[in-house]
Amino acid sequence: MTGKSRKIAKPEDHALPLPLDGLSRMQEQLLRLAGEHLSDREHWQQERRRLVEEKVWLRAMIDQVPDYLFVKDDQCRFVIANKALMGDLKNGTLDVVGLTDADVHPPERAAEFMADDRRVLRSGRPMIDKEEFVLLPTGEQRWLSTSKVPLRSDDGEVIGLVGVARDITLRKHAEQQVRFLAYYDPLTKLPNRASFEENLEDVARLLEPGEEARLMLVDLDRFKQVNDTLGHAAGDELLRQAADRMSQLVGGRGQVARLGGDEFVVTMAFDNLNHERPFYDLLVQRLAAFSIMGNDVHVGASVGVSKIHTSTTPLAALREADIALYDAKAHGRNRWQLFEGGMADELERRHQLELDLRNSLPHGDQFTVLYQPIFDASGVSVEGVEALVRWVHPELGMLSPDRFIALAEERGLIIELGEIVLRRACELLARTDLPWVAVNVSPVQLHDPLFPDRVMNVLGTARVAPSRIQLEITEGVVLEEFGQARPVLDRLRAAGMRIAIDDFGTGYSSLSYLGRLSVDKIKIDRSFVQAIGNTSGEAIVRAVIAFAKALNMTVTAEGVETEDQQNFLRAAGCQELQGYLLARPMPEEQLRALMGSR
Ligand SMILES: [Mg+2]
Repeated sequence: MTGKSRKIAKPEDHALPLPLDGLSRMQEQLLRLAGEHLSDREHWQQERRRLVEEKVWLRAMIDQVPDYLFVKDDQCRFVIANKALMGDLKNGTLDVVGLTDADVHPPERAAEFMADDRRVLRSGRPMIDKEEFVLLPTGEQRWLSTSKVPLRSDDGEVIGLVGVARDITLRKHAEQQVRFLAYYDPLTKLPNRASFEENLEDVARLLEPGEEARLMLVDLDRFKQVNDTLGHAAGDELLRQAADRMSQLVGGRGQVARLGGDEFVVTMAFDNLNHERPFYDLLVQRLAAFSIMGNDVHVGASVGVSKIHTSTTPLAALREADIALYDAKAHGRNRWQLFEGGMADELERRHQLELDLRNSLPHGDQFTVLYQPIFDASGVSVEGVEALVRWVHPELGMLSPDRFIALAEERGLIIELGEIVLRRACELLARTDLPWVAVNVSPVQLHDPLFPDRVMNVLGTARVAPSRIQLEITEGVVLEEFGQARPVLDRLRAAGMRIAIDDFGTGYSSLSYLGRLSVDKIKIDRSFVQAIGNTSGEAIVRAVIAFAKALNMTVTAEGVETEDQQNFLRAAGCQELQGYLLARPMPEEQLRALMGSR
């Protein structure tokens, strides 16, 4: 534009025409002309003032605009740049007039900007709202929305361009955030389910014929217990650490995604199938133990593996991995399992079992309750009994709780089932002078705020005093600080029921936790009773008994099977014994006979 801009006429260019005919006329004319000239000069001076003023106002205006405003000539050189643009380039110390983008931006960026300039100059068509990324000399990264409009001379020739660039960094960040939230899990920063499903389709599509990839469905075994015991912050920390470990292990060879809860998925292709099994071993090993907020916790992971090949759909691969995962869990957890054809039948059986459970609950007649007596330390008198449910399935016969309790918990059927057992226990109490019955309560029931009302209702109907009911709960539930279980337990205890911790020692509580618990009884887990005979096992049992006594709690030993165990426990001061040595779980008639005979 510099070479072709219109010049404003200057006063020196005006030639003054001199009259020649006669002095008086000349004088007259001179005076007139002088007057005209004077007024011309005045006019010009006024015009000049107006232009200067206008320039000042225009400058002020373009400098006040926060967007970048600039004019470039036909050689892509800056002619005008506003303060916003100058301020951001070279920290504002550089006057860009006369320079091109090549003088102020890194080569790659400059080349792109100048290519746009040339396109506008050559075509005469504007570029509107192009989103571009710039790295400022300060190191700041910025997103701009830039428009470049051709500037034409009076005869229509393109002589330069006018540019406007608006900072859209905040908007871009917001867009990125929205995209991140749509495709990533904010907690672990891993891709989420939506993103995984898209990726899985790509993995399957990009496989060569005959090539296979693997899908690993990973489930943390004791996530819920960590959450319940150490709180949600610890649960979150566990998920983050597990995600990091898996990402490190997989590296660039595949993708790790979080499907939700404590369920993760790994997709990976192995170029050498000999590396496959060692990888699964390593995956399970890496997720075995964690240090969470100062606590060493054994978590463990179960992994179900399926094959992704060109002929299977991603959905089928996911379903097969799910079946394999279920199998890994059913066979002891903390292990991996490849999908095999027969497993689908197993899953089908499980679905059928769930259906049967659902259908049988309203009548309740397929459930029978056995009672295992709990004796005093001498093993002579029955202090109370523990109610233990069995399911007499019309086709499968007598099923023990490990076949259906977890299923009932998972499917929310445990509340109904728990009520059946409690009702039977209360009916037994109403018919006998048995001091108390202990019933097992699932954490799922304790998270139901209506649970105390349900219990009081059953007790009221059977006219049984709350003091004759003991509720056996797991360690995790009592230690939970943030959940709803605590107030529920407090209400039950205030109503007169006693609370016992079942299977004590298998959770995460240490002896020092015991003082914080509002419970009446501890049942030492059978695994500690079995350890009686070796020095450290005996030391643990002694310590638990001493501690519980100091806190005025009753101690029951579970799984007492030998006389040596009984003798040791009695000597150590354990008040109550339960186990096959003394009595197995039995039906009501047998229990009545036993009590009658004593
Ligand atoms: Mg129990």
